[in-house]
Amino acid sequence: MRDNFEIRDQDALGRIGELEVPRAGVTVETPALLPVVNPHVRTVEPARMQSEFGADILITNSYIFYGSDDYREAALDRGLHDVLDFDGAIMTDSGSFQLAEYGEIDVTTPEILRFQHDVGSDIGTPVDIPTPPDAPREQAEDELATTQERLEVAEGVDVGEMLVNAPVQGSTYPNLREEAGRHAEATQLDVFPVGAVVPLMNDYRYAEMVDVVAGAKRGLGAAAPVHLFGAGHPMMFALAVAMGCDLFDSAAYALYARDDRYLTVRGTEQLDDLDYFPCSCPVCAAHTPAELRGFDDRDREELLAEHNLHVTFREIRTVKQALRSGNLLELVETRARAHPAMLDGYRALVGHADQLEREDSTSKGAFFYLSGESARRPEVVRHQNRLERLALSPGDEVLLSEGGASDRYDESWRVVAPFGPFPRDLSETYPLTAEVPERMDAEGYRSAAEGVDRLVAANPEVEFTLAHHDWPESALAAVPERVDVADLSE
Ligand SMILES: [Zn+2]
Repeated sequence: MRDNFEIRDQDALGRIGELEVPRAGVTVETPALLPVVNPHVRTVEPARMQSEFGADILITNSYIFYGSDDYREAALDRGLHDVLDFDGAIMTDSGSFQLAEYGEIDVTTPEILRFQHDVGSDIGTPVDIPTPPDAPREQAEDELATTQERLEVAEGVDVGEMLVNAPVQGSTYPNLREEAGRHAEATQLDVFPVGAVVPLMNDYRYAEMVDVVAGAKRGLGAAAPVHLFGAGHPMMFALAVAMGCDLFDSAAYALYARDDRYLTVRGTEQLDDLDYFPCSCPVCAAHTPAELRGFDDRDREELLAEHNLHVTFREIRTVKQALRSGNLLELVETRARAHPAMLDGYRALVGHADQLEREDSTSKGAFFYLSGESARRPEVVRHQNRLERLALSPGDEVLLSEGGASDRYDESWRVVAPFGPFPRDLSETYPLTAEVPERMDAEGYRSAAEGVDRLVAANPEVEFTLAHHDWPESALAAVPERVDVADLSE
């Protein structure tokens, strides 16, 4: 366990946690959203973010203060909290973004960390190298080595109580991300941003984002607080939280508003295309899209930014409640239906079933089977792993049935798709209490058949009969040949 981060609830790899930020005297409940405040363009005043939107923490770029004579002096004299008029926690970035955009910046890690400390930042950041997706492997390795040197330099800088970020890079190479995560976690640094994923999200490459985060998480372990850096679109929060991300930052609320773009949990809309607002935040309740289009640029941008922030914070709360209720994966699955790329992201997530299974809570409220992807959820994986270890009495005849029990057998187990077989007295235990559709899909039956296969393989001395209701051929093909099969519907 790391000193400054405590995990309270868990669902999939997601968690509700508490990040203690000692310099701010604030404990931030995670998952948390950090609105990005650009001191040049304060679309929504930071004080309002706290009072009206519930922001406990925000992020601003220390390099903008460092590089501007006016802001630099004001920040050094009065401190960031006073300049921005915000008394929650303030995280600062280092200028790595400018480095990625413009090729070079004029500051070292010790200089920018001391500067961040001197202006009163609560969580500072070294100058890491954000290697973009698809970089050649050699470049990704070289730049990662530089980032790792800088993290070690950062450990040696005296910054008092300020927490320090340890960014995890490695481009689109999951094993480099894993190595970077392991190295970062071994430092004395405090918070772990997974960096340079914005291009993946902008291009809707959610499956690759999941693979990158899964790699970083394998290296970081479960106890580290993880920031998905630059991830501010509400449509992907549920997915990213289920992957184990704890912090998000949104510049999107303001950047999108500037281009008349309206955020929703199902994607992005152009204000021009909307006849109705699918939202009841104060902005959308008080205006129609046509009215908003009639406002001057500045007012329209501000109101759109407010809506964008409202929907963003609302989704964070929705995700937290789902996590608390134990139905985060149901929410991810629902969100995944909004866009094919999100569906790819969800499929990539369940593709990491073993990693999920190790961390996922073993008991929750209810399991809803919503699609073929549900058949690959960690609860199903865990149940089937157990089947492999269940030893039945050699020589017994065992009925596995979707129907009732029968006295003609030594044992009579139930079969429920997607789990497969289980003893009848487990019927009331999670996840076997799952709500499943009456019209089960082929993936669910196939998964149940694989469960049968695993139990049968583990018990070569036992005779099995499977009684099923009209399973499709694709499922029956997965049932071992030595099992007697009877169709109850005939
Ligand atoms: Zn709204």
